Amino acid sequence: MRNQFKSHMMELINGLWFLKRDIVSDEYDQALFRLIADIKDQTVSAGNAHVKIHEYPTGEQCWTWQVPEKWTCHKAYLETLDGQRLIDYTHHPLHVISYSLPFDGIVSRDELLEHLHVHPKHPEAIPFLFKYYDRDWGLCASQVLRDKLDEERYRVVIQTSFEPGTLKVGEVIIPGETDESFMLVAHLCHPAMANDDLTGVVVGLEVARSLMTDLKSYYTYRLLILPETIGSVAYLSHNEDLIPKMVGGLFLEMLGNDSNHALQGSFQVDSQVDRCLVSTLKQLDPESYVAPYRMVINNDERQFNAPGVRVPMLSLSRVLRHNSPNWPYPEYHSSLDTPDIISTSRLEESKNYVLELIQAWENNQYIVNKFKGEIFCSGYGIWIDYRTNPEGHQRLFEIMELCDGEHTVADIATKLDISFQAVWQVISLLLEKSLVYLSRTPQSTTPSRSQNS
Ligand SMILES: [Zn+2]
Repeated sequence: MRNQFKSHMMELINGLWFLKRDIVSDEYDQALFRLIADIKDQTVSAGNAHVKIHEYPTGEQCWTWQVPEKWTCHKAYLETLDGQRLIDYTHHPLHVISYSLPFDGIVSRDELLEHLHVHPKHPEAIPFLFKYYDRDWGLCASQVLRDKLDEERYRVVIQTSFEPGTLKVGEVIIPGETDESFMLVAHLCHPAMANDDLTGVVVGLEVARSLMTDLKSYYTYRLLILPETIGSVAYLSHNEDLIPKMVGGLFLEMLGNDSNHALQGSFQVDSQVDRCLVSTLKQLDPESYVAPYRMVINNDERQFNAPGVRVPMLSLSRVLRHNSPNWPYPEYHSSLDTPDIISTSRLEESKNYVLELIQAWENNQYIVNKFKGEIFCSGYGIWIDYRTNPEGHQRLFEIMELCDGEHTVADIATKLDISFQAVWQVISLLLEKSLVYLSRTPQSTTPSRSQNS
């Protein structure tokens, strides 16, 4: 049973997925305006939360990149010379390569086949192809159709235009106590596909809604909705002053298909964000897997992790393991990536997990001991009987041993290879008994070290 209950996320996906959301295009803009309008009212009632749309004009320099032109496909088809139409852009936007050059002429079968692309695995599917920077014309079709092309010559018409426009990045800002920011990012581009990555966008927006209403946060949260890669480079290169304040981030993508979660680490594997999110997800979703940077799937997180930026950004997806024959998921980059492969319950689950990851991140502080020596546990009523719960007993002592002002909750979880939640439970107890306090910065209580500092 899919989509058992009505979901706002699913409504948004159904309304937007078939738009031609090429990276700089009118229908990408339409989708972004609709999403921003959808959350704007709520930011007003939430007080200081707000939304922005950043615009970067065609030709604008973004570090080593430039914003491309706006691309529009007005009409495109493939016909036999006696006028039988075989492919028509009005039937599916994937029939034309995104950013294809215009073309109008009669071509031989061989020339056509050089420019007619098919999906390597699914004979029925139209593949998604793009040539943003390496200019060429091209059509896409199913293998089934390609196999039937037995005439000598065909007529190809592709009417596309390239003109100045603006690349747009939507931003939802939810201020916290500090201006140190945690970044949430998802990409809205890709014509007529749903899981990649409208699902990341709608999950990000639902998370933002919850943060606005429920969480009194320490960190500021910024959700970016952008066209893949160039959108991240455009935003970062025009907001360099914000980069030192970005303490970490999570890229959200491909969250609606029927697979377990995959968490990809950042470039800085020992960062607090990596330790915190990895040790938290393991308990949330025991079926999930964690893989190092670039080993699940590559996306916008690369721009944040890159040299000169170095913001530790992980990514959360439902991508299959790299050695799976269906990696990243069977319908990826094809006309089969429709709302039919997305389930409401998967989206809801991902949203809830992201909120739990954020809650852990908020809680992740240094644990400073007010006690010296080993705690007299039975005196404080926190002793765990080693005869009935040997692991709990051992863990309690291992955790208390690391409460020295030099370890965060995530450090302790990582060091002991247990979940963040298990450590947090013990720390909560110690907080209740006033045996420790939390600090955003290290506060070593080791006499020899605190003298040196
Ligand atoms: Zn993609």
